Amino acid sequence: MKKRKWIIEGLLSLGLFLCLTGIVTAYTGNGATIVYVTRTGECYHRAKCGYLKSSIEISLEEAYVRGYRACSKCNPPLYSGTAIRMGDREKNDSDSSAVNRGYLIGEGDSQERTTRKIKTIWKMVCLVTGTSVAGWVFAQIWKYQKERKKEQERKQLLKEKRASEKADRLCLYTDKYKGKSIDEIINIPLGYKIVDNGIAMGEVSKKYPNGDLTVFLPQTGKYYHNDMRCRGCSFWTRTDQFHARLKGYQPCPYCRKNDDGEVPEWYRKLIEESVKKEELESEFE
Ligand SMILES: [Zn+2]
Ligand SMILES: [Zn+2]
Repeated sequence: MKKRKWIIEGLLSLGLFLCLTGIVTAYTGNGATIVYVTRTGECYHRAKCGYLKSSIEISLEEAYVRGYRACSKCNPPLYSGTAIRMGDREKNDSDSSAVNRGYLIGEGDSQERTTRKIKTIWKMVCLVTGTSVAGWVFAQIWKYQKERKKEQERKQLLKEKRASEKADRLCLYTDKYKGKSIDEIINIPLGYKIVDNGIAMGEVSKKYPNGDLTVFLPQTGKYYHNDMRCRGCSFWTRTDQFHARLKGYQPCPYCRKNDDGEVPEWYRKLIEESVKKEELESEFE
Protein backbone atom coordinates (compact mmCIF):
# COMPACT_ATOMS: atom_id res chain seq x y z
CA MET A 1 0.00 0.00 0.00
CA LYS A 2 2.75 2.40 1.02
CA LYS A 3 4.86 1.37 -1.97
CA ARG A 4 1.97 2.05 -4.35
CA LYS A 5 1.57 5.54 -2.92
CA TRP A 6 5.23 6.26 -3.52
CA ILE A 7 4.93 5.13 -7.13
CA ILE A 8 1.93 7.45 -7.66
CA GLU A 9 3.80 10.34 -6.08
CA GLY A 10 6.84 9.66 -8.26
CA LEU A 11 4.76 9.58 -11.44
CA LEU A 12 2.99 12.83 -10.51
CA SER A 13 6.32 14.53 -9.82
CA LEU A 14 7.73 13.30 -13.14
CA GLY A 15 4.64 14.58 -14.99
CA LEU A 16 4.98 17.94 -13.29
CA PHE A 17 8.68 18.12 -14.16
CA LEU A 18 7.97 17.34 -17.82
CA CYS A 19 5.23 20.00 -17.94
CA LEU A 20 7.49 22.64 -16.43
CA THR A 21 10.33 21.70 -18.79
CA GLY A 22 7.89 22.06 -21.72
CA ILE A 23 6.75 25.48 -20.51
CA VAL A 24 10.28 26.73 -19.97
CA THR A 25 11.39 25.44 -23.38
CA ALA A 26 8.41 27.03 -25.12
CA TYR A 27 9.01 30.27 -23.29
CA THR A 28 12.74 30.70 -23.78
CA GLY A 29 12.91 29.53 -27.43
CA ASN A 30 16.27 29.38 -29.23
CA GLY A 31 17.46 32.98 -28.69
CA ALA A 32 20.88 32.01 -27.35
CA THR A 33 21.99 30.42 -30.65
CA ILE A 34 24.93 32.28 -32.22
CA VAL A 35 24.56 33.65 -35.78
CA TYR A 36 26.71 36.00 -37.87
CA VAL A 37 26.04 39.36 -39.44
CA THR A 38 28.08 41.81 -41.48
CA ARG A 39 28.64 45.45 -40.71
CA THR A 40 26.32 46.72 -43.39
CA GLY A 41 24.12 43.76 -44.38
CA GLU A 42 20.49 43.16 -43.43
CA CYS A 43 20.72 39.35 -43.12
CA TYR A 44 22.16 37.01 -40.56
CA HIS A 45 23.98 33.81 -41.49
CA ARG A 46 25.41 30.53 -40.39
CA ALA A 47 29.18 30.61 -39.70
CA LYS A 48 30.27 29.15 -43.04
CA CYS A 49 27.89 30.99 -45.37
CA GLY A 50 29.38 32.01 -48.76
CA TYR A 51 27.86 35.49 -48.43
CA LEU A 52 29.87 36.25 -45.33
CA LYS A 53 32.87 38.38 -46.24
CA SER A 54 33.41 39.77 -42.77
CA SER A 55 31.51 38.44 -39.77
CA ILE A 56 30.28 39.71 -36.41
CA GLU A 57 29.14 37.18 -33.83
CA ILE A 58 25.68 37.94 -32.48
CA SER A 59 22.94 36.00 -30.63
CA LEU A 60 19.91 34.93 -32.66
CA GLU A 61 17.70 36.93 -30.32
CA GLU A 62 19.72 40.08 -30.83
CA ALA A 63 19.73 39.52 -34.61
CA TYR A 64 15.96 39.22 -34.49
CA VAL A 65 15.47 42.26 -32.27
CA ARG A 66 17.74 44.38 -34.42
CA GLY A 67 15.78 43.50 -37.55
CA TYR A 68 18.15 41.09 -39.31
CA ARG A 69 16.59 38.52 -41.61
CA ALA A 70 17.56 34.93 -42.22
CA CYS A 71 19.86 34.45 -45.22
CA SER A 72 18.22 32.45 -48.00
CA LYS A 73 21.45 30.73 -48.99
CA CYS A 74 22.67 29.28 -45.71
CA ASN A 75 19.21 29.04 -44.12
CA PRO A 76 20.12 29.84 -40.49
CA PRO A 77 17.69 28.99 -37.62
CA LEU A 78 14.63 31.21 -37.18
CA TYR A 79 14.03 32.94 -33.87
CA SER A 80 11.21 31.40 -31.82
CA GLY A 81 11.49 33.33 -28.56
CA THR A 82 9.32 36.12 -27.20
CA ALA A 83 11.57 39.17 -27.74
CA ILE A 84 10.09 42.04 -29.78
CA ARG A 85 11.54 43.07 -33.12
CA MET A 86 12.55 46.73 -33.33
CA GLY A 87 11.91 47.01 -37.08
CA ASP A 88 13.32 45.74 -40.35
CA ARG A 89 16.78 46.89 -41.35
CA GLU A 90 17.45 49.04 -44.41
CA LYS A 91 17.79 47.05 -47.58
CA ASN A 92 21.36 48.05 -48.38
CA ASP A 93 22.86 44.64 -47.95
CA SER A 94 26.10 44.62 -49.82
CA ASP A 95 26.81 40.98 -49.22
CA SER A 96 23.48 39.54 -50.37
CA SER A 97 22.42 38.83 -53.92
CA ALA A 98 19.32 39.93 -55.78
CA VAL A 99 17.85 36.49 -55.08
CA ASN A 100 18.28 37.12 -51.43
CA ARG A 101 16.55 40.50 -51.69
CA GLY A 102 13.65 38.97 -53.59
CA TYR A 103 13.20 36.34 -50.96
CA LEU A 104 13.22 38.85 -48.17
CA ILE A 105 10.82 41.47 -49.50
CA GLY A 106 8.57 39.20 -51.53
CA GLU A 107 6.62 36.07 -50.73
CA GLY A 108 9.33 34.86 -48.40
CA ASP A 109 8.68 37.70 -46.05
CA SER A 110 5.00 36.97 -45.61
CA GLN A 111 5.82 33.28 -45.34
CA GLU A 112 8.18 34.08 -42.51
CA ARG A 113 5.48 36.13 -40.79
CA THR A 114 3.00 33.29 -41.10
CA THR A 115 5.54 30.88 -39.65
CA ARG A 116 6.11 33.23 -36.75
CA LYS A 117 2.38 33.59 -36.19
CA ILE A 118 1.94 29.81 -36.12
CA LYS A 119 4.84 29.54 -33.72
CA THR A 120 3.34 32.18 -31.44
CA ILE A 121 -0.04 30.39 -31.45
CA TRP A 122 1.69 27.10 -30.82
CA LYS A 123 3.60 28.63 -27.89
CA MET A 124 0.36 29.96 -26.41
CA VAL A 125 -1.25 26.54 -26.77
CA CYS A 126 1.77 24.93 -25.08
CA LEU A 127 1.70 27.50 -22.31
CA VAL A 128 -2.03 27.15 -21.62
CA THR A 129 -1.95 23.33 -21.80
CA GLY A 130 1.19 23.17 -19.69
CA THR A 131 -0.26 25.50 -17.07
CA SER A 132 -3.53 23.58 -16.93
CA VAL A 133 -1.80 20.22 -16.64
CA ALA A 134 0.59 21.54 -14.00
CA GLY A 135 -2.36 23.02 -12.10
CA TRP A 136 -4.24 19.76 -12.29
CA VAL A 137 -1.19 17.80 -11.11
CA PHE A 138 -0.69 20.22 -8.21
CA ALA A 139 -4.34 19.88 -7.24
CA GLN A 140 -4.08 16.08 -7.32
CA ILE A 141 -0.95 16.05 -5.18
CA TRP A 142 -2.49 18.49 -2.73
CA LYS A 143 -5.71 16.46 -2.49
CA TYR A 144 -3.78 13.24 -2.09
CA GLN A 145 -1.54 14.69 0.64
CA LYS A 146 -4.58 16.01 2.49
CA GLU A 147 -6.32 12.65 2.37
CA ARG A 148 -3.19 10.87 3.52
CA LYS A 149 -2.82 13.22 6.47
CA LYS A 150 -6.46 12.69 7.43
CA GLU A 151 -6.04 8.92 7.20
CA GLN A 152 -2.92 9.05 9.38
CA GLU A 153 -4.72 11.14 12.00
CA ARG A 154 -7.62 8.70 12.00
CA LYS A 155 -5.27 5.74 12.45
CA GLN A 156 -3.40 7.48 15.25
CA LEU A 157 -6.67 8.20 17.06
CA LEU A 158 -7.81 4.60 16.70
CA LYS A 159 -4.46 3.38 18.00
CA GLU A 160 -4.72 5.62 21.05
CA LYS A 161 -8.28 4.51 21.68
CA ARG A 162 -7.28 0.85 21.49
CA ALA A 163 -4.35 1.42 23.82
CA SER A 164 -6.52 3.09 26.43
CA GLU A 165 -9.14 0.36 26.15
CA LYS A 166 -6.48 -2.26 26.67
CA ALA A 167 -5.18 -0.39 29.68
CA ASP A 168 -8.72 -0.35 31.09
CA ARG A 169 -9.06 -4.09 30.56
CA LEU A 170 -5.73 -4.79 32.21
CA CYS A 171 -6.80 -2.65 35.15
CA LEU A 172 -10.06 -4.57 35.43
CA TYR A 173 -8.21 -7.86 35.17
CA THR A 174 -5.67 -7.13 37.91
CA ASP A 175 -8.31 -5.60 40.19
CA LYS A 176 -11.04 -8.17 39.82
CA TYR A 177 -9.93 -11.45 38.27
CA LYS A 178 -6.21 -12.04 38.66
CA GLY A 179 -5.36 -14.97 40.92
CA LYS A 180 -8.98 -15.49 41.97
CA SER A 181 -11.23 -18.47 41.42
CA ILE A 182 -14.70 -17.83 40.06
CA ASP A 183 -16.45 -18.52 43.39
CA GLU A 184 -14.43 -15.70 44.93
CA ILE A 185 -15.83 -13.34 42.31
CA ILE A 186 -19.44 -14.51 42.39
CA ASN A 187 -21.49 -15.14 45.51
CA ILE A 188 -22.67 -18.71 45.13
CA PRO A 189 -25.68 -19.49 47.34
CA LEU A 190 -25.26 -21.97 50.15
CA GLY A 191 -25.57 -25.60 49.13
CA TYR A 192 -24.19 -25.10 45.63
CA LYS A 193 -20.63 -25.92 44.64
CA ILE A 194 -18.57 -25.75 41.49
CA VAL A 195 -17.54 -29.05 39.88
CA ASP A 196 -15.62 -29.95 36.70
CA ASN A 197 -18.58 -29.82 34.32
CA GLY A 198 -20.60 -27.05 35.90
CA ILE A 199 -22.48 -26.53 39.15
CA ALA A 200 -23.58 -29.16 41.66
CA MET A 201 -25.95 -29.38 44.62
CA GLY A 202 -26.12 -32.09 47.27
CA GLU A 203 -24.29 -35.40 47.08
CA VAL A 204 -21.94 -35.80 44.08
CA SER A 205 -21.18 -39.24 42.64
CA LYS A 206 -19.75 -40.77 39.49
CA LYS A 207 -23.22 -41.36 38.09
CA TYR A 208 -24.50 -37.97 39.29
CA PRO A 209 -21.50 -35.63 38.96
CA ASN A 210 -23.75 -32.60 39.50
CA GLY A 211 -25.59 -34.10 42.45
CA ASP A 212 -29.29 -33.23 42.54
CA LEU A 213 -28.83 -30.97 39.54
CA THR A 214 -27.56 -33.75 37.24
CA VAL A 215 -29.50 -34.14 33.98
CA PHE A 216 -28.88 -36.19 30.85
CA LEU A 217 -28.52 -34.57 27.43
CA PRO A 218 -29.33 -36.70 24.39
CA GLN A 219 -27.20 -36.49 21.29
CA THR A 220 -30.23 -35.33 19.32
CA GLY A 221 -33.48 -33.75 20.54
CA LYS A 222 -34.40 -30.67 22.56
CA TYR A 223 -35.22 -32.20 25.98
CA TYR A 224 -32.99 -32.89 28.94
CA HIS A 225 -33.83 -35.92 31.07
CA ASN A 226 -33.84 -37.06 34.63
CA ASP A 227 -33.23 -40.63 33.64
CA MET A 228 -30.82 -41.92 31.03
CA ARG A 229 -33.27 -44.66 30.20
CA CYS A 230 -36.03 -42.22 29.27
CA ARG A 231 -37.35 -42.28 25.71
CA GLY A 232 -35.13 -40.68 23.08
CA CYS A 233 -32.19 -40.57 25.43
CA SER A 234 -29.72 -42.98 23.85
CA PHE A 235 -26.16 -41.60 23.64
CA TRP A 236 -26.13 -38.91 26.29
CA THR A 237 -23.84 -36.63 28.24
CA ARG A 238 -24.25 -35.40 31.81
CA THR A 239 -24.43 -31.80 32.95
CA ASP A 240 -26.35 -29.61 35.40
CA GLN A 241 -29.91 -28.51 34.68
CA PHE A 242 -29.02 -24.79 34.66
CA HIS A 243 -26.41 -25.38 32.02
CA ALA A 244 -28.84 -27.46 29.96
CA ARG A 245 -31.42 -24.67 30.16
CA LEU A 246 -28.86 -22.07 29.20
CA LYS A 247 -27.95 -24.15 26.16
CA GLY A 248 -31.62 -24.09 25.09
CA TYR A 249 -32.79 -27.55 26.21
CA GLN A 250 -36.29 -27.97 27.64
CA PRO A 251 -37.24 -30.23 30.58
CA CYS A 252 -38.50 -33.64 29.38
CA PRO A 253 -42.31 -33.71 29.68
CA TYR A 254 -42.17 -37.33 30.93
CA CYS A 255 -39.30 -37.60 33.38
CA ARG A 256 -39.01 -33.96 34.50
CA LYS A 257 -42.68 -33.01 34.83
CA ASN A 258 -42.12 -30.79 37.86
CA ASP A 259 -39.05 -28.96 36.53
CA ASP A 260 -39.82 -25.23 36.23
CA GLY A 261 -36.64 -24.91 34.18
CA GLU A 262 -35.71 -21.52 35.64
CA VAL A 263 -32.08 -20.43 35.45
CA PRO A 264 -31.24 -18.41 38.57
CA GLU A 265 -29.68 -14.96 38.07
CA TRP A 266 -26.52 -15.83 40.04
CA TYR A 267 -25.89 -18.76 37.67
CA ARG A 268 -26.18 -16.56 34.56
CA LYS A 269 -23.77 -14.16 36.21
CA LEU A 270 -21.42 -17.03 37.05
CA ILE A 271 -21.23 -18.09 33.36
CA GLU A 272 -20.79 -14.48 32.18
CA GLU A 273 -17.96 -13.86 34.63
CA SER A 274 -16.26 -17.16 33.77
CA VAL A 275 -16.23 -16.23 30.09
CA LYS A 276 -14.92 -12.74 30.87
CA LYS A 277 -12.24 -14.14 33.18
CA GLU A 278 -11.08 -16.62 30.54
CA GLU A 279 -10.91 -13.88 27.89
CA LEU A 280 -8.81 -11.61 30.08
CA GLU A 281 -6.56 -14.46 31.17
CA SER A 282 -5.82 -15.40 27.56
CA GLU A 283 -5.10 -11.76 26.77
CA PHE A 284 -2.79 -10.93 29.67
CA GLU A 285 -1.23 -14.20 30.81
ZN1 LIG B 1 24.02 33.20 -45.44
ZN1 LIG C 1 -37.19 -37.90 29.95
